[in-house]
Amino acid sequence: MLIVHKYGGTSVGDVERIENVTNRVAKAREAGDDIVVVVSAMSGETNKLIGFAHHFTKEPAKKEMDMLLSSGERITAALLSIALQARGYDAVAMTGRGAGIVTDDTHTYARIKSIDPKAMHSAIKAGKIVIVAGFQGVNQDGAVTTLGRGGSDLSAVALAAALKADQCEIYSDVDGIYTTDPRIEPNAKKLDVISYDEMLELSSLGAKVLQSRSVELAKKLNVKLYAKSSFSDNIGTLITKESNSMEEVLVSGVVLDKNQARVTLRGVSDRPGIASEIFTMLAKENINVDMIIQNVGADGSTNLGFTVPQSDHEDAKKLMMNFNHDIEGMDFDEHVCKVSVVGVGMKSHSGVAATAFTVMATNSINIQMISTSEIKVSMVIDEKYGELAIRTLHEAYELDK
Ligand code: ADP
Ligand code: ASP
Ligand code: MG
Repeated sequence: MLIVHKYGGTSVGDVERIENVTNRVAKAREAGDDIVVVVSAMSGETNKLIGFAHHFTKEPAKKEMDMLLSSGERITAALLSIALQARGYDAVAMTGRGAGIVTDDTHTYARIKSIDPKAMHSAIKAGKIVIVAGFQGVNQDGAVTTLGRGGSDLSAVALAAALKADQCEIYSDVDGIYTTDPRIEPNAKKLDVISYDEMLELSSLGAKVLQSRSVELAKKLNVKLYAKSSFSDNIGTLITKESNSMEEVLVSGVVLDKNQARVTLRGVSDRPGIASEIFTMLAKENINVDMIIQNVGADGSTNLGFTVPQSDHEDAKKLMMNFNHDIEGMDFDEHVCKVSVVGVGMKSHSGVAATAFTVMATNSINIQMISTSEIKVSMVIDEKYGELAIRTLHEAYELDK
């Protein structure tokens, strides 16, 4: 078999942990499989590098940031290769470029355009364990690019697809996908299997255990994906295509996203084009708008609310000042969070949303915004109730059973 392993920051956090990964890779190799390993930077390294840049300016050039941040993953790739060689294994470390990963030009959030797996294939054929620095590629001009935070997961899935690997195993400090973040709810249960769509919702709604773009790609290219722990031998969670039996389960998980800020615009001129002007301006500044609600207008005006990532909150505030003449009042709140309930079973069962609202009511938590899709219900609430909401929702849907 050809297996892609990916080890995240905590799994390669120091030399002892890299030693641990060395043992695991060696063991998999001894079992007779061909192994390609994708590594993250040591935990905290990427943030440390960002901090260095911010010492000089709040807005460093994105191209230089890619040059800077891509170095974290290279360090780990080289160290792991050195460690394997020291143990007598034939290993080779590659950068994104070396692994043939070509992306578009969007520095710090590049999309993979193509992968030429030739170099990896010939190394594998020569009996080598291939170690690839995650989170990076090069654009068509050869400049290094990075794939967005948590992007080593994406590197792993994309390489698994390009290599036609039998499976892709993402190793972190949890032994799989849980019904909610086990750090918030110790009674969370590990799932044996979860559908791509549910996982995609959980990831995009805030569960950082897998990067959402990686799940999207795994779904698109049908990559057999496992979430496992680098600290145990548990079989982990399989992320795969939806099956009929999955729909019997009403709710698969609940998730908390603390990185939310709410913007409310009151008395917005109720005329065609206003929403387009507001959201086009936000999009031009690359501000990712999440939930949007607008009321039915009355007296020529309407109210408009939306959420943005907390880090974009100040920028969104500044941009909204441009609409002073169109808006009576504005209200900004960065102390909000989003709690969401996810499950494919919602498609065929009613009452899931009502239960969520009842849980909030019972705990006297005010719901500020609501949005739903076929397989999720999300609510924006006061940040201080986020963890309480997660724990009580977890109990209400009997996820601990
Ligand atoms: P890595 O550094 O290896 O990429 P991450 O820190 O990105 O690992 O992801 C692992 C973390 O994700 C866990 O420590 C856990 O706290 C968090 N997490 C959030 N939601 C979930 C969930 N539903 N199941 C498992 N882990 C979760
Ligand atoms: N090192 C990068 C980050 O911290 C990429 C990754 O770990 O996946 O976001
Ligand atoms: Mg991660």
